[in-house]
Amino acid sequence: MHGEIISVGTEILLGDIVDTNSAYLAKELSKYGIDVYYISSVGDNKERIKQSVINASQRSQIIFLTGGLGPTEDDLTKEALCEALEIPLYEDQNEVKRIKNYFKNREIEMSTNNLKQALIPEGAIILENTLGTASGLILEKDQRYYILLPGPPKEMKILFTNQVIPWLNNKLRTKGTFLHSHTLKFLGISESKLDWELQDIFKAQTNPTISILAKDGEIHCRLSAKVSSQEEFNEIITPVKEEILKRLREYYFASDDTRIEEIVGSLLNKKRWTLATAESCTGGLIAQRITDIPGSSRYFLGGIIAYDNAVKKNILGVPEEILEKYGAVSQETALAMAQGVRKLLQADISLAITGIAGPQGGTADKPVGLVYIALVGENINKWERFIFSGTRNDIRWRSANWALYLLKRSLEQFESRSF
Ligand code: ATP
Ligand code: MG
Repeated sequence: MHGEIISVGTEILLGDIVDTNSAYLAKELSKYGIDVYYISSVGDNKERIKQSVINASQRSQIIFLTGGLGPTEDDLTKEALCEALEIPLYEDQNEVKRIKNYFKNREIEMSTNNLKQALIPEGAIILENTLGTASGLILEKDQRYYILLPGPPKEMKILFTNQVIPWLNNKLRTKGTFLHSHTLKFLGISESKLDWELQDIFKAQTNPTISILAKDGEIHCRLSAKVSSQEEFNEIITPVKEEILKRLREYYFASDDTRIEEIVGSLLNKKRWTLATAESCTGGLIAQRITDIPGSSRYFLGGIIAYDNAVKKNILGVPEEILEKYGAVSQETALAMAQGVRKLLQADISLAITGIAGPQGGTADKPVGLVYIALVGENINKWERFIFSGTRNDIRWRSANWALYLLKRSLEQFESRSF
């Protein structure tokens, strides 16, 4: 199915706001196998909105319009669409009641122009908006679907997720083109290596199709299949997923929206181990990510941001000789930091990180991006060296990713490659 998105609003054309609605919708629609061929913006002008609708109807089967559904003079999307399609508007009594109630409940006086929003194109499905007064609408005419959503992104997203998606899935399912996807997420492997390892699977597959995406230092492998039910999807996806994991299980950490810090958390919970962190170049990022997870107080004791050498020395007890002889960014310092924080906080396992996030501070010996990560626990005394690329933020984020990944592997007691 071919899709098209039209964002309505003079603010967009003036550059006063950025059209994030289209980006959101385009991304979501691709997950459902709807190819978006056109995205355009048009101002609050009835004739031009009308023309946009007519153009879209000639080339796309499903047309999204966002914005211009409000009560004011310049909110014209519905009116323009109805003129373009020659569909009459009627005053919907349920909508009148709903709008009146909306104002009554908020103890605000309703101005009469608000009732403009109760005008509904004949035959339209009304998508109730719990956050604002403008309802969304779905309209079918000449085998084209028109989906109208309010402009404010929060309202647009909630209507799209809660009402358009179920409707869309129903439509697509009856056509047998319901598209579902499952994303396997990997860390500790490069995009090219993953690609190489899975090449034969890629070549052999048409349903599911496989796509690879590098995102925030993680590699995502998305399996998409056209199916008519969740069960059918599972049947198609399972053997392919198993084959991929048979080859790359050590790098796999989670699927879909699950984050590495959640996996680490549940492993620590299972082992009943406590964790402490000592961070230099990541400035507390690891501790923050770990504590983003509800319930992390069960396993995370705390962390020290040991940015200055004095803190490494005085709080963590990193010996002066180590700092002098090997420098703050070294395997010896990373290990001493991990040992120090483990002892200080009485943790079962500790993680330490020291490196150069840049952009300044690199030397020929110790370039920007050089990072040492150490893990210390009972019978665990490991460190690893990395040179990450990217901006300061990239380096910090990737360092944290790797630290969490190494911790995960250690907790699972995988055979280590380079430890
Ligand atoms: P309202 O009832 O709030 O007037 P509406 O459906 O008429 O809703 P608009 O008047 O077009 O929507 O836009 C309202 C606000 O929503 C804009 O001022 C802007 O902040 C935001 N908005 C509108 N369109 C977009 C868009 N395409 N991308 C991001 N934000 C948008
Ligand atoms: Mg408006």
